[in-house]
This record gives sequence, C-alpha cells and structure tokens, in this order.
Amino acid sequence: MIADAKLAPVNTFHRAFKIRAYPTQDQRRLFARTEGACRFVYNRSLEHIKASYEAKKAGSVERADTPIDFSRVVTQWKKQPETAWLSEVPSGPLGATLRAQDEAFKRFFKGVARYPKPHRRRMACSIQSPLDPRHKDKAAAWANQKILFPGFGIIKVAQPERMPIAQPKMLTLSRDSCGRYFIAFQVSVTLESEPAPVNDRVVGVDLGVKTLAVFSTGESREVHHAERKRRRRLKHLQRCLSRKVGSRKGEKKSRRWIRQRQQINRLECRIRDGRRDTQHKLTTHLTQNYGVICLEDLHVKGMMTSAKGTPEAPGSNVAQKAGLNRGLSNAGFGEIRRQIEYKSVSMGGIVLFADRFAPTSRTCSACGSYQKEFSLKIRKWICPTCGAVHDRDENAAKNIAAFATGSYPGSYGGETPDVMRVEGQIHPTPKGAIPRICQGPDEARTESLKSSKIMPTKAWKPRAEC
Ligand SMILES: [Zn+2]
Repeated sequence: MIADAKLAPVNTFHRAFKIRAYPTQDQRRLFARTEGACRFVYNRSLEHIKASYEAKKAGSVERADTPIDFSRVVTQWKKQPETAWLSEVPSGPLGATLRAQDEAFKRFFKGVARYPKPHRRRMACSIQSPLDPRHKDKAAAWANQKILFPGFGIIKVAQPERMPIAQPKMLTLSRDSCGRYFIAFQVSVTLESEPAPVNDRVVGVDLGVKTLAVFSTGESREVHHAERKRRRRLKHLQRCLSRKVGSRKGEKKSRRWIRQRQQINRLECRIRDGRRDTQHKLTTHLTQNYGVICLEDLHVKGMMTSAKGTPEAPGSNVAQKAGLNRGLSNAGFGEIRRQIEYKSVSMGGIVLFADRFAPTSRTCSACGSYQKEFSLKIRKWICPTCGAVHDRDENAAKNIAAFATGSYPGSYGGETPDVMRVEGQIHPTPKGAIPRICQGPDEARTESLKSSKIMPTKAWKPRAEC
C-alpha cells in the first residue's frame, strides 16, 4: 500500500496553456522596461560568467561563478545610482532570467544544447515570473479566474472561464512579433480514471505536401486555403523591404524599413496562425474519431537535409530539394505527429507507426502485389494483378494502416520480394523508375525523400520483428 502511495498517479500529465492577454498601456510600458532590464541582467551575467571561466582556467579562482551567484551582484547594482533603475521593475523576472541562464549552462555542459547566446532587442520577447501559491492575493485572484502577474497587477485575458483550477508555479508573459501579448503556464492535470478508449476504428494517415493529409477512409485535409496567396504577398513585401534604407549591413534602419518589417511580421503571424489552426483541426478530428491512428514514421529532419552536398561532390537538383524542404517545413509533419501523440493520450486512443522504409505507395492495398516500376508522377493507377483502381495517396494511407497494425496488405506469396529486402541498394534501380538521387520534388512520399546522402541501410522488415 505504501509503495502504491509513493508512485505518481499514471494519469497525471502536464498541460500547457497559452492565453491571449490584453495588458493596459501602463502594463505594456512596464513589460517593455522589465524585458529590457532582464535582457541587461542576462547579457551582463553572460559576460561575467565567461570572464569567470577564463579566470578559473588561468587558475586565479577555484570555482567559476554561476548565474545564481550573479544575482548577488544584481542586488548590489540596485543600490548604486547608475543602475538604480533595475529596482524600478519587478524583481521576479530578473531572478527568473538568471535561473533560466543557469539551466541553459547546465544543458550546455551536459552536451544537449549550445552555448547560451546574448539576448537581442526584438519585438518577440518574453518575461517569466514565479507565482507563489502562498500569497493569498494571488491565489484569490486565480480562484476568481483572474491572473495577477507579480508586479503588474491583474492582466486581462481572453476567455478566463477556460483557465484551469490548479494554480501554476510560473507565468510567462510574452509579446509576439506583431505585438500581441500572451500569458503561458503549465499545470499538472490528473485524470480520475484512465480515459475510456474512443472506439476501435483504425485510420491510416498519409501526410503530404500538396494535400496535407489523406486518410485511409478516403477523406482528405488540405493546407490552409489562403496560404499560397499569403506566401506570394510575403515574397512581394520582402522584396520591397530589401529596397528600403536599412537593409544593407551596418545601415541604420529607416522608418520605412521598420514599417515594412512590421507589415511582414503581421503577415507571417497570419500564416502561422492559419497553419496552426489547420493542424489542430486535423489532429483533433483524428483523435476524437479514431481509436487507432496509424502514421508513417517519417524522418523529418533527414528528409529536410539540403541536397547541396559538398564542393567536391555537389548534389543534384538543389533548388528542387530546397523547394520541397520549404513545403515540408510548412506542412509541419513533426508538429502534427506531436499533437496526435499527446491528444490521443488524453483521449484514450493509440498511435501506431509504419516503418520508415515500408513500401507504402507502390503496394496494392487490395491484393498486396508490389509494383516494381512506379513513377512518382502516377496519381491514379490500376493494379495489374487484381484490377483494383487506386488513388495514390489513399492507397498509401491504407497501406500505412496495414503496415502499422502488422496486418500486411494482401500477401506477398509467402516471400518478401528481393527489391523490398534491400530497397534500391543491391537491386538495380527498377526499370522505368526515377533514380533515387535525382527524383523531383513531386511529393512527400517516403521513397522520394531520402536525400542523396541518406540511403536505406537496413533491410525492410515487418515491425513486429524489429
Ligand atoms: Zn492488387
């Protein structure tokens, strides 16, 4: 019993919230000043620590200072007349910024992150502040669905009725590149019982660049309708920006440059918002309606490697690959996968993956026969073995579902064809197929996406045996 009590409840997970905030003019001014003070402290601390490490190397001190040690210096600064302005802003964010730097250094020494960079002045920025649960006024405000940001008073937020009951320990107030404010926090949520499974419906999802997602049910989801139009406008605005005074290196930014930049920022925000909206709608739809979601285990990072190559061995079709990479990063496969994974946890569904090298588009989902000759341009095809008519993406989605669940599409006659065992390596390039290296940026199919550097090294095996 005691051992049970010690174990954390399995149904506890962290849930992040990001709420649009509407600070008053005074609060906005205070935000700007606090952010400036934080940046000042952060950058000075960075310099101090660098010097401190050099002193340690030289042997003049035994132990190098950490950002936490630097907070004592900040306390001293507040008393000196030339830096007394630091005491005019709330102290919470100043401490939080040093703690964040301490974490950054810890991650750097662990080898998981790069050396912390100095902060620059920019539109998109944020401050953090601890929210002490022992403070009665803060707790009372939270209970009344209001957010009391320490030192700022109550900040108006959108849809306060959607705030969680649990009070977070840390608040982040941020401003994005087009001047909107947000409050973000994280609370741990405990479910009383395991979420009931949604249902036992299985769906395979084929993610692509042209069509965002095609389901094995035949449904599909497109990318945001205005995206193309907005991208065209963005290109135009960026060209205008490059002609304004302030674009050249070392030139002072002109008022027109700044105004143009703001226009670009606003448009970029709109594109981002539209994309996020489509992604959330897609992933919510999937997790709410299907108990088993099958995805392709895409290696997004590898897919997006540049085809540039080295000066000695230049890659081919660099521009096309760059265009494809742009499409890939716009579609945001990684984010879609992340959302499906976390949403299905709270919905009670499961996510399965088809192997990265499984031949999902060139296999007939009806009889399982494998097409050796399969051009990337084929959108619709008729299976020569069984006569089934296939839409390329829908067929792939069906195969993803089959491969991920371990029930293979049709049968391969008891034996895996050679060409599948070591796809494209030992077997010569199938007749009529486009050679792997110079495949065009036709679409985001797995086999078209291994950049010239990444060759499949392992033989394709059913997932169960791996
Ligand atoms: Zn067939």
